[in-house]
Amino acid sequence: MSLALDSKPDTDQLTTYFRCIAGCPGKHSIYDVIYTCPICGSLLEVHHEREPLQKRTPLQWQQLLSSRASTSIWPYGSGVWGMREWVIPSLADENVVSMFEGNTNLFWAERLGKQLGVPDLWIKLCGNSHTGSFKDLGMTVLVSVVKQMMAQGSPVKAVACASTGDTSAALAAYAAYAGIPAVIFLPAGKVSTAQLIQPVCNGAHVLALDTDFDGCMRIVKEVTKDNSIYLANSMNSLRIEGQKTVGIEIIRQFEWHVPDWIIIPVGNLGNISALYKGFKLMMDLGLITRMPRLVAAQTKRANPFYESFKNGFKEKISVTAQDTLANAIRIGDPVSYEKAVTAIAETNGIVEQATEDELAAASARADLTGMFTCPHTGVALAVLSKLVERGEIKPSDKTVVISTAHGLKFTDFKVGYHESTLKDVNSQYANPAVHVPANADAVKAEIEKRLG
Ligand SMILES: *Cc1c(COP(=O)(O)O)cnc(C)c1O
Ligand SMILES: [Zn+2]
Repeated sequence: MSLALDSKPDTDQLTTYFRCIAGCPGKHSIYDVIYTCPICGSLLEVHHEREPLQKRTPLQWQQLLSSRASTSIWPYGSGVWGMREWVIPSLADENVVSMFEGNTNLFWAERLGKQLGVPDLWIKLCGNSHTGSFKDLGMTVLVSVVKQMMAQGSPVKAVACASTGDTSAALAAYAAYAGIPAVIFLPAGKVSTAQLIQPVCNGAHVLALDTDFDGCMRIVKEVTKDNSIYLANSMNSLRIEGQKTVGIEIIRQFEWHVPDWIIIPVGNLGNISALYKGFKLMMDLGLITRMPRLVAAQTKRANPFYESFKNGFKEKISVTAQDTLANAIRIGDPVSYEKAVTAIAETNGIVEQATEDELAAASARADLTGMFTCPHTGVALAVLSKLVERGEIKPSDKTVVISTAHGLKFTDFKVGYHESTLKDVNSQYANPAVHVPANADAVKAEIEKRLG
């Protein structure tokens, strides 16, 4: 049950609260164990009333956020907590569980951009983070709120999630940092070795189930009905509050200018919803005056959002997700569908898909220009190529691709590509190591053959 808000003294709890995304009445404390609307069952969102935030001018906000961007002053050195007034203003310093996530590099992909016909191409490398994916941004917020709940005597004693790999790595790390037990549900045999070993190392209770992600999700929902285990999947909208900082961070890194396009690989649709939420906040506070166009990139093997988009979003389509190299987006029944429809509709956005061969080729091609891309980033880059070829993205457009994880988590994919052993993939950019005798003449001959 929702506690009455006025039973808590912090004044900003009156201005930051959960509310139903479908518009039902009711404000729920973000420190209550509640994930969906008690009236209609829709997802909740953390709402920040705008009026208190409008007491600062856009310029004052810009200066404040910029001034914190590279500090080591606790907790502002975190890309998330550097925006704490926009995230969870009522969180006490001592309950912030942070490893200074965020503030990831946004770099100009000059050579790849020229090859693809969009020279003003930028990569936001969210994989350069504590556990190697953007999931850290959401988990610092969720675990911090749990720590504050526990400090206030809540019945919560552990956190749990179903995961396609990166969510569990982030949850396990932040829970371990805070000393809170974590229970992880993984689809057996469907995550990479690196993704599996991370929560194991962090001491989480790792349960591998003989099902897919959607099956794990059904079980975790059942298990967390008991309020002592707190659900950390992205239907918990606390994570969205942390993840929304990535869009704000991109704008800050561009000196408060808005790019034309942002392309992001999507599965459960939490991250694109978060991206939009950050931009909406900046619009409402006057920091920006237009929206970037958002592009959701899906793998063809798990493309329910693409199918729904083709259908004009007339109805939510679910599919049975198939095996894909892009395992973190192998999701057939996305939980944040409604929020993501808003994100696409309000930004004149696009949903596009990529095949296994297209995503692998796009990833390998990017690597040849100095990157080390995960397969999900490959999906986004393949979609970028399609939209450039179709003339949707113009050569002069400033375009950002969100790289969601570090390629080093997916070495099996890289090895398979360069050994030409991946199913349904033609390894056209394969560059396998060659075995050469340890003899200078043989080595010189090999170099000669290659460099001419
Ligand atoms: C979780 C994840 C995604 C998809 O994010 P959603 O919020 O589920 O849409 C994409 N890429 C990587 C690497 C991820 O871990
Ligand atoms: Zn409702």
